[in-house]
Parts: sequence; C-alpha cells; structure tokens
Amino acid sequence: MSKDIHLVWFRNDLRVGDNPALFYAAEQGVVIGIYLEPVEQRVAHNDAPCKVGFINDTVKELRKQLNKLNIPLHSFQVTDYQQSVEKIEQLVEEVNADGVYFNNEYPLNEKKRDDQLEQQLQAKGLKVKRFDGDVIIPPNSVSTGKGEPYKVFTPYKKAWIEFHKTQGMSSLPAPDKQNYKIEQQYDCDFGHDYRKDLWPAGEKAARDTLNEFLPKASYYKERRDIPSVKGTSMLSPYLAVGAISARKCIEALLEWHEGDQEAFYQDTWLSEIIWREFYRQIIIDNPQISHHQPFKSDAKEVWNGQHELFAKWCKGETGFPLIDAAMRQLLQTGWMHNRLRMNVAMFLNKLCLIDWREGEAFFMRQLIDGDFASNNGGWQWCSSTGADGAPYFRIMSPITQSQRFDPEGKFIRKLVPELAGLSDKDIHFPTSQQRKDLGYPDPIINYKEARKAALELLS
Ligand SMILES: Cc1cc2nc3c(=O)[nH]c(=O)nc-3n(C[C@H](O)[C@H](O)[C@H](O)COP(=O)(O)OP(=O)(O)OC[C@H]3O[C@@H](n4cnc5c(N)ncnc54)[C@H](O)[C@@H]3O)c2cc1C
Repeated sequence: MSKDIHLVWFRNDLRVGDNPALFYAAEQGVVIGIYLEPVEQRVAHNDAPCKVGFINDTVKELRKQLNKLNIPLHSFQVTDYQQSVEKIEQLVEEVNADGVYFNNEYPLNEKKRDDQLEQQLQAKGLKVKRFDGDVIIPPNSVSTGKGEPYKVFTPYKKAWIEFHKTQGMSSLPAPDKQNYKIEQQYDCDFGHDYRKDLWPAGEKAARDTLNEFLPKASYYKERRDIPSVKGTSMLSPYLAVGAISARKCIEALLEWHEGDQEAFYQDTWLSEIIWREFYRQIIIDNPQISHHQPFKSDAKEVWNGQHELFAKWCKGETGFPLIDAAMRQLLQTGWMHNRLRMNVAMFLNKLCLIDWREGEAFFMRQLIDGDFASNNGGWQWCSSTGADGAPYFRIMSPITQSQRFDPEGKFIRKLVPELAGLSDKDIHFPTSQQRKDLGYPDPIINYKEARKAALELLS
C-alpha cells in the first residue's frame, strides 16, 4: 500500500461530525478507522455494562456513517491499555501507515497510554497527531491573574466565556468522501443491555435528542430541578461517548438564540456545559484525583459509616422516599437526574458517613453516562473535598428537598409505587404505621441526629 495512510483511533469521540482527528487525517490522505474495546480496563475503571452496551451500538452506528464516506472502521477487543498500544503499533505496521491521529482523553491512565504510544511511534519515525475534541476550549487556555489554574467555578466560567468570545470557535464538518474501496472490516461485538428506548445509539440520535431539547431550553432554568418532568436534555450518555461534541451542542444553542451572544452567554444550560469543561481542566491540573485522592489536600475525611447503610443505599431501601426513588431510577435506567445525584451523594457521604469513593465507584458501575471527570467532580463537590465544593455545613435534607422539588410526589409515586397511595403530605416521609402497612422500610438513619453528628465531625 502507498504511504499516505493514517489510522484514526476512535475512543470517546464516536462521531464523524466535529471530530478533529478524523477531519484532519482525512485532509492528509487515506483514513482507516480503528476502535479497540479494552475489556479488562473497563472492569478496572468500573464502567457500567449499560455504558459498554451503549458504546458497542454507537461504534456500529459510527461504522455505518464512516462507510458512507468510504472510510472503514475495524473494531477489536483488547485486554487493557497496554495491549491497546501494542495493537495500534501492530496495525500501523500491517497497513504501512504514516501514523496515528486521535483526540485526547484527559484522565491519567488514558493520558499515560497516549503518551506511551506517541513516544514509541515517534521513535520509529512515525507521525502522531493529537487533538482536543472532547472540550470546547483547549485545556490550559485560561488561568488566573497569577497564571495559576482555577480552583473555583465562577471565575473559571468568566474566563472561559471571555476566551470563547475572542476565539469564536466553530465546529468542524464531517470529512469529505474518500477515494478508497473498503474490502474487509474486522468487527467485534461486546453488547450488553441498556435502555435503548431512552437512548437509541448513534450520532443522529444524539442530534435528534439535542433538537428535541432546544425548544425547551427557555424553561431549563425553572424545570431543571424538577425530577418528575423532562426538564433537562438527557444528552449526557451521548456526550460521554462522544456521539456528539459539546461544541456542536452549544453552537446549536447559539443558533437557537438566533445569534444573540448576550442571551447565549447568560444561558444556564451553557453554564452546565462549562461545568463539564471545568471538571476536565481540574483532572488535568490535579493528577492526584486520578489516584483517588481528594482535590483539597486538607480535606476532612471522617467516613466511618457502617457498610450496611451503603448496601441499603445501593438498593434504594433507605426509607427516605426521594433517595430511594432516585436510586431506583439509577438502577432501572442507568441515569439519574442531577438534583437527585446531589441528594443521594450527600445522603450517603455526609449523613451515612460512607466514603465518597464508594459512592463514586457505585455510580460508575451503574451509569450509562459514567464519566470520570464529571462523576468525581460531582462526588467531591457533594462531600466538600472538591474544587469549589459545597461548604461542609451544606447538607441537603432528603425530606425538605423532596417537598421542594417533588411537591406532589409525582416522581416518588412512579419509582416507589408502594407509596403511590399516600397523600402529598405523607409521601415525603411516611409514618411508622404507613411503612408497616405498605412494606416500606424504616429510615436507616435519624436525619436530625445524623446531620448533627456530621457537622461536629466536619467542622
Ligand atoms: C454526584 C454526581 C455524579 C455525577 N456523575 C456524572 C457522570 O458520571 N457523568 C456525567 O456526564 N455527569 C455527571 N454528573 C453531572 C450531572 O448530574 C449530569 O451531567 C446530568 O444530570 C446529565 O443530565 P442531562 O444530560 O439531562 O444534563 P443537562 O442538564 O441537559 O446538561 C447538559 C450537559 O451538561 C453537562 N453537565 C450538566 N451538569 C453537569 C455537572 N454538574 N457537572 C458536569 N457536567 C455537567 C453534561 O454533559 C450534560 O449532559 C454528576 C453529578 C453529580 C452531583
């Protein structure tokens, strides 16, 4: 084969649109797409079976899209990242490629893997081109007045917006159709069940989800905290596997605002996308986080709760209806509403005094949108150990939160059907007799006492 072949290694960027590695490789010559499924690495990283199943189907959809552009996509199973590097090296040799193009992933193991591959290929005189397709503004684009990384979200967001305004970055189109005849494609299947009814796989489905959400963006601020209504985009699984880019999402938001920059930059939904960028920057600046360390080096780690409490929390049997409804939503769908993620995390960590790392890992093992940076960021925010974390004395009351965000118990009634017949008042915390009658568990903690104990330990 001639010497202008480039491998594009797809990882968490399973799309043809706005994919810098794919776009620039296609500009240079013939592209061969590769996907490697690292089976044991998935287990080590606690990736949920539903997420793996979703990735499997997204890879298949990606292949269809690539094939329309005459680009093949070969997929293989490997054990871990070490074997991923070896496999890429082997493939480069087999097809006599010029080099490899890929988009960076930012957690530590992924970065080490990519650095190793880059070194080994460059030593052989081969080309490695790395891009930043998972974020909107490239890492390290903004820093404080002192040139230090941001540790607090609000000033980061302000700097992010200023940078974005000056750069005016727009997304990349899909590459042009290639002049290449696809002969044979290696395919491997690593399918698992997931809620295909909620998240059909692929780039088109991701775009449809975005388009369905945008008309509701004007209500986002008011509805985003109400778990019984579909007030958020539910795009997170697509963003986690890269079936759509965050850049594409906010470009569509700007269009929806008809180009009104002021309204766009003030949009609450944009802010959430910037949280995603913030947590990515945080793991880049703080590699200790990838070693299960807290962001704050002086964080108080006082977690001495009994394992039994953790086991009940995992099953959605805490005796606190909102917490149980949330955990059952996670178990049934692989996704949980953001307001509820905060509630169950604080409940487990601050009220049951279970180490946030246990909750973080359990979430990863269940979530279809499991994402190391956002999940770790969320858990550390809730346990007050993280960047711009909630102050230690902020502990959400599972009863007050329930009354406030699910006032008629609509969400609870759906997920905890044994409580469906209770009044709007009782549903947030049934009486002992009601629990007995309905077969619903007694509360596993006494909220007031647990809160008091936590405040004493954490202050
Ligand atoms: C304890 C905890 C764990 C979390 N774990 C994850 C996780 O593993 N994966 C994940 O994608 N998000 C995680 N989040 C963030 C957030 O809960 C989800 O992104 C959101 O609920 C996804 O729903 P949506 O797509 O409808 O979001 P929308 O409200 O429509 O927001 C749009 C997008 O912005 C991003 N986003 C929104 N909120 C946040 C946030 N607080 N932090 C970072 N990014 C955000 C997501 O990519 C989301 O898809 C976690 C939050 C907490 C408190």
